[in-house]
Amino acid sequence: MRGRREGFCAATRSFYGGGMSAKEYKGISGGFGSYSQRGGRAGMVRLRLAGGVLDRERLDFIVDCIDRHGIGRVHMTACQSLQLHDLDAEAVCAIVGEAPAHGIDTFGGGGDHPRNVMASPLSGVDPEGCFDVLPYAVATERYVLSLAGSIDLPRKLKIAFAASPANDVHATFRDLGFLARPDGRFDVHTAGGLGRDPRPGLHTAVAEPSEVLLHVRAMIDVFQEHGDRGNRARARTRFIPETLGEERYREAYARALAEAGRAGVPRIGPPAETYAPEASVLVAPRIRTQRQAGLHSVSWHPVGGDIGPAMLKRLRDALRGMPGAELRLSTDQTLHIINCGRGDADTLAGLTADGAADVFEASVSCVGATVCQIGLRDSRALLERLVAMSRRNAFPDGTLPQVRISGCGSSCAAHQIGTIGFVGVSARTADGDPVPAYAVTVGGSRQAGRECFGRTVGSIPEDRVPAFMEAVGRTVMASGKGFADWYADDPDAFGAIASEYTVG
Ligand code: SF4
Repeated sequence: MRGRREGFCAATRSFYGGGMSAKEYKGISGGFGSYSQRGGRAGMVRLRLAGGVLDRERLDFIVDCIDRHGIGRVHMTACQSLQLHDLDAEAVCAIVGEAPAHGIDTFGGGGDHPRNVMASPLSGVDPEGCFDVLPYAVATERYVLSLAGSIDLPRKLKIAFAASPANDVHATFRDLGFLARPDGRFDVHTAGGLGRDPRPGLHTAVAEPSEVLLHVRAMIDVFQEHGDRGNRARARTRFIPETLGEERYREAYARALAEAGRAGVPRIGPPAETYAPEASVLVAPRIRTQRQAGLHSVSWHPVGGDIGPAMLKRLRDALRGMPGAELRLSTDQTLHIINCGRGDADTLAGLTADGAADVFEASVSCVGATVCQIGLRDSRALLERLVAMSRRNAFPDGTLPQVRISGCGSSCAAHQIGTIGFVGVSARTADGDPVPAYAVTVGGSRQAGRECFGRTVGSIPEDRVPAFMEAVGRTVMASGKGFADWYADDPDAFGAIASEYTVG
């Protein structure tokens, strides 16, 4: 791996020095979790954090990187990774080279590899979970990293473990998803995905936790054998059941699973310790009880998912006096601090008081087209305009729901399963003139058993989206209900408002 990293650094210096094309560099850098940003003058590094666990050693390293490299932007991704932005070539090389010694891999953070393995961020502490899925996610992360160099995937592969039907990591929409069951086993969903042309996963098996890696190996082998290598747009697992037919896909998966068992893929322990799910109790704004008596988690959602470097340092310093406390990243750009005594929880809530003030402000946007090379729209700026609009109107909490904004069809903000989703598109006016716009969806859900994609109600010019959402908010407020009840009572009302703003 050291030799490979040296090759990566040579390519990085060449690219930022003007000696390599963006396309050629992307083909090399993605595998190390690094991409150049829009304009090609600066880059980012994506840090793998299995299950979103940001323990003290990792946090110390990241804060040290911030200090040494003058990093001004740290972004939480929808896959529980952290992205360090606006880096020069030397910073990119240093971070990629040093991170593994601090428990952070970057290899496979991009490119055609198994990506960061996700798990419910409050797994093990959330009273509503069926059992702690984090150990299985961590074992899976180790396993897939151990395969580097011996597998050749057609494209990326996403794996997630959800601890409860809340399905907070979208396990049933991933290439491979494990959904914890009350009986201590997993429902295994395969061949799903939320990118362009999304598909829900197929319920494929019920697995003992010890069998998790057999399923990982089976999915990898089916993907290697049947993934479409001739067409990158269809080179994801979600298209395999269509290509083969569902019955043949299931047979191929079953064969690969049996072969994984014969090939000695390790079985992992310990067996799941199930517990009777209980309701989590909100004891103060953003402070919840844990399954462990006397301990609490604190949530903080910086609007847009960027963690200010100064805040990360303050959190690092505060945690030094709080034994056992640890940061966990969600897939919704919320940061949780777990294992806090009540007094410490109050301290941390005070420290993080600048975050989202309600469910609408806790909306999710991808990093957007000002940073992302392939983005169409500045999703992050749209979110800021929407939050400003909501504050101006002083909408009560719940008037508008959490929305998800993707800057393009790659759907990094998972807009398809948002209560309201926006995705950057190019639309045309009635006169046929091109106009930057967002397609709007409504009614999506990730809740296990009720999963669905939102239905598209039209495309709205970028400039008019805040006015549209303002009209929705005012209508909902006038009804005296929250958005959920208002929408349930008349699902067509949202589309009727949208029709006043759509083009094309
Ligand atoms: S959704 Fe599009 S714009 Fe947003 S981060 Fe992903 S690729 Fe970039």
